[in-house]
Amino acid sequence: MGLARKVFDEMSRRDVVTWTSLVKGYVVSGEMRKAREVFDGMRERNDVSWAVMIAGYVGNKMYNEGLRCFNEMLGEGSIEPNEAIFVSVLSACAHLGQVNQGKWIHFYMDKIGFRKSENVATALIDMYAKCGKIDYAKHVFKECEKRDLLTWTSLISGLSMHGLGKEALEVFDEMLAEGIKPDNVTLIGVLSACSHSGKIEEGISIFNNMERLWDISPKIEHFGCYVDLLSRAGRLEDAFTVIKRMKIEPDDVIWRSLLSSCKVHKNVHLAEEITKHFRNTHGGGRLLLSNLHASFGQWDNVKQIRETKIDKKDDSNPGCSYIEIDGVVHEFLAADKLHPMITDINLKLNEVMKRISLEGGYAPMTRDVLFDLSEEEKELAISWHSEKLAVAFGLMCSPEGTRIQIVKNLRICEDCHSAMKCISLVYNREIVVRDGSRFHTFRDGYCSCADYW
Ligand SMILES: [Zn+2]
Ligand SMILES: [Zn+2]
Repeated sequence: MGLARKVFDEMSRRDVVTWTSLVKGYVVSGEMRKAREVFDGMRERNDVSWAVMIAGYVGNKMYNEGLRCFNEMLGEGSIEPNEAIFVSVLSACAHLGQVNQGKWIHFYMDKIGFRKSENVATALIDMYAKCGKIDYAKHVFKECEKRDLLTWTSLISGLSMHGLGKEALEVFDEMLAEGIKPDNVTLIGVLSACSHSGKIEEGISIFNNMERLWDISPKIEHFGCYVDLLSRAGRLEDAFTVIKRMKIEPDDVIWRSLLSSCKVHKNVHLAEEITKHFRNTHGGGRLLLSNLHASFGQWDNVKQIRETKIDKKDDSNPGCSYIEIDGVVHEFLAADKLHPMITDINLKLNEVMKRISLEGGYAPMTRDVLFDLSEEEKELAISWHSEKLAVAFGLMCSPEGTRIQIVKNLRICEDCHSAMKCISLVYNREIVVRDGSRFHTFRDGYCSCADYW
């Protein structure tokens, strides 16, 4: 190679590095439009530049854009994806529940003979688990050449999310037998596996020994799983004692799981005691308190709480659902007005709600709605939850009898849960909803979670 050529190559390499770091700067500050402008203006791009752009989209929760960018890169044909790119796009598929694209990426990796590192294997297991394909996840795990803590943890969390608590604990034991020490995240998976599968004694023992055995002091998430575990088992007083003795401040999730168990076990007395304790120690938690009062129909109290303080933070994480139809992921927000077919979807949803009331015995559960609205208004408010819009859209756009799969960012509410059960019966469809904490498979009017979630 001539010197001139060498100098030129070195210059353009530097060029790529400089431009890529500029793109990265915009990505880090979340300015994806500007990042894209710079990226588009680059004379030359290498795998690192594409990785920065794709990971940027995914890191900024623009999952669809991340996948589009990946496909664009493949379309150009000159650059082979690297590990960082594969990990990013698999994570995008996991977030969107887009299993077909995920499978395709897996297939593509095998086709080009890409050697799967522990990171990539972990991303694959996580993607399959979160897309409802736990068998595929197990298969990838089995085929792994090398497994590290993250690989084990992704399988344990996946099994737990699918309600396969017994298996999750078996895998955990295998992991310990191989001499791998769990971390924070592993133990969250293990504890929630115990909770979701009714392994109460195992869960209690793991929680009480985690510090001694693995030198991990319980964090808020572990307390969350533990309180959940005790509450589900009906040991509400014990759960309350744990909360009162916690050295860290309990968060809303913990209070909510205890309070919703009070609802399930109809323990109004304890709920009131909790409310008192809560008032004295917090003086806040407006949303939680109003939810509690609402669930017992104490609308005067709800009104009073709502009038005292408007806390904008309560609305900071709006419900959002995804559904994939013919390879395209559609996104719905509660009371959505953005989807191009929204008028038809609303009509369909009205029809669905009417039909399940008549034929499936559905009665709207308005308790979970947090506001002091009239019964009619409440009914209206819950009929717009994003997962209901998504399921109506799914019924419209997919062939009869096929499975409908929805991904929801928050926990599914009681009313949507009951509506899904009725829809699965009346429309003879299997409906899978992955919510913030687990999978629900609705079939013939029943859910795989047995109404515990
Ligand atoms: Zn809902
Ligand atoms: Zn369920």
